[in-house]
Amino acid sequence: MATFRTKGLSAVTALLAFSIEAGAVTPTLPPTAPRPTASPRQPAEITRPPRPEPRPDTGPREETASEASKAPSPEPRPDPGTSSARETGDTPRSKTPPVATEELACRSRLRARGVEFTEHAPVSDPTGCSVPHPLTVRSLGPGVELSPAAVLNCATAEAAAKLTAEVIAPAAKSILGSELVAIGNSSAYVCRPRNGTTKLSEHAFGNALDIGSFSLADGRSIAVTATSAPKDADFLARVRMTACGPFKTVLGPGTDADHAQHFHLDLAHRRSGATYCR
Ligand SMILES: [Zn+2]
Repeated sequence: MATFRTKGLSAVTALLAFSIEAGAVTPTLPPTAPRPTASPRQPAEITRPPRPEPRPDTGPREETASEASKAPSPEPRPDPGTSSARETGDTPRSKTPPVATEELACRSRLRARGVEFTEHAPVSDPTGCSVPHPLTVRSLGPGVELSPAAVLNCATAEAAAKLTAEVIAPAAKSILGSELVAIGNSSAYVCRPRNGTTKLSEHAFGNALDIGSFSLADGRSIAVTATSAPKDADFLARVRMTACGPFKTVLGPGTDADHAQHFHLDLAHRRSGATYCR
């Protein structure tokens, strides 16, 4: 029966060998016995499938790397929010890019404006809140304290400082007759969604500043609210109107209940630079 053990033989050859041997030695051999030769090739074909599936994971990594190389955008600013948004929230930038040239230039411009600030540790939260290069801002220009100090990204601090120098301080003097000495910070960086939604607020990116009041050298404090005092109302209206443009979102008393006591100013980016001022 050694014939049947020859693996290389085809079924035909095997059967032939069997019939010869069967006839010579054991005519009573059951026909089922010789089966073993049953096509040794098939198993080989079936076993063939084990092809080298193990994919190298270099592919995905390369993609990540190329994305990361795009990341060093100058501004750690969030993506566009919906235009219907009250306070535009958006997707986070979770990565922490190195301090970019534009970031450093922004800080230089702040110093040139006399803005007092210190670097704040990067902010990052699993929920998506993120400020890669936050600053703790203590003043928005010479003699204009920001109280309490606010954690903001540089772009927002710069926009606020510019508005202060070009609009708020001059309006305080011309309309209210006194020097602006402080701006009341009602809220800056806060890791939270927009009120009534699950989308993150611009505050969650250090991209927004809420102003609750303006303090003057003569001791007055002008609260941001629906006021009937004509000069106060004029001053507040001037600030609010001119903030729209430099800031992309401007909300305040009259917008809704959430903004009855402060101006919300943020730099949310929308398509074609659209503003949302209500
Ligand atoms: Zn706000």
